[in-house]
Amino acid sequence: MGGTVIVKAENLRAAVRHIVLAGGSNEREAALVSENLVLANLTGHDSHGIGMLPQYILAVVEKRLQVNQAPTVISDHGAILNLDGNMGYGQVIGHDAMELGIRRARETGVCVVSLRNSHHIGRIGHWGEQCAAAGFVSMHYVNVVGRPPLVAPHGGSDARFATNPYCCALPATEPGGEPVVLDMATSKIAMGKVRVAMNKGEQVAPETLIDNKGNPTTDPNIMFQPGGPKGAILAFGAHKGYGLAVIVEMLAGALTGGGTLHDHNWARNTITNNMLSVIIDPAKLGGAETWRQELATFVKWVKASPAAPGVDQVLVAGEPERNTKAKRLAEGIPIDTNTWNEIIAAGKSVGVGPDQTNAAAGLA
Ligand code: NAD
Repeated sequence: MGGTVIVKAENLRAAVRHIVLAGGSNEREAALVSENLVLANLTGHDSHGIGMLPQYILAVVEKRLQVNQAPTVISDHGAILNLDGNMGYGQVIGHDAMELGIRRARETGVCVVSLRNSHHIGRIGHWGEQCAAAGFVSMHYVNVVGRPPLVAPHGGSDARFATNPYCCALPATEPGGEPVVLDMATSKIAMGKVRVAMNKGEQVAPETLIDNKGNPTTDPNIMFQPGGPKGAILAFGAHKGYGLAVIVEMLAGALTGGGTLHDHNWARNTITNNMLSVIIDPAKLGGAETWRQELATFVKWVKASPAAPGVDQVLVAGEPERNTKAKRLAEGIPIDTNTWNEIIAAGKSVGVGPDQTNAAAGLA
């Protein structure tokens, strides 16, 4: 308990790539998965980084996650694309789905991408950033099925839906500039952060979790009771966050056809994401120059608010991630030893020895 290893991003990518390849993935898939997971750690979202790899590899071994898949086009209605992720690695399915949507939005000005049946697609900001890098505004609504619910409805005392993330990304206003990326779970915290707290032996913040009777608790272990009744995470922002979570569940689960959580329909116990994305070309709405000026001016305006006591500066969404990325690129990525040991074990399960994993990570 309590130990940490520090690993350089490129070494971490090499270690992850090695294990993913050993699981049967091709080079492209291994590169996309390792790039995506390490970027999550770089941006400070350890919950969606390499700590997910053991779950992914177990799912590969148990054939719940299918390697080397691409999204299938179920139907193509011009500005609406219906895709099936074939339970492939979400890091590949998400990437390819956004590529298809971006290409289409270039022609039509807008594309609604409906993606169902993908294995875990990780940090949703990744997909917003991909659209923003191509110059597009995008909104993404994601639900989670195939796994028991985690989040209680406002006023309820047990979990009924998952952490249902929402992301909206606005492209940079100048070449080399940075996008605005709001990327958030609709729960008080993401489930992966509860796992990270448990692995580190830490408590979570008050008013984040409830036990199985609806009483407040700060103990992350309440979410991991083997076989027993579990607690639940609360929605962010009381009734408002709860309301948004319901909307996200319906847009991502019902509009895509991927399904919603209800009545114990999660028996397959495989994390499955459905995502509804709306990708918009700002140049086709009101003019690219107006958009650029308004966004730049408004961001400057809000950031000019004098910082409140105890706060360094006002930030906009996406900045905390970029700041953490700069620090972790320079100093390396801290990984708690529980998580690292789980990764070593995941490697072993597909024939990669601990020495090989440690050597790839520069820890030999
Ligand atoms: P978070 O609370 O750390 O950040 C949420 C947003 O707030 C971010 O856009 C961030 O840039 C912004 N932010 C943070 N501090 C700020 C500040 N001081 N000023 C201005 N903006 C600030 O994120 P989270 O809710 O814990 O979500 C973590 C990750 O989990 C996300 O990447 C999300 O996509 C992912 N997630 C994925 C799934 C899935 O099923 N694939 C499910 C849930 C969450």
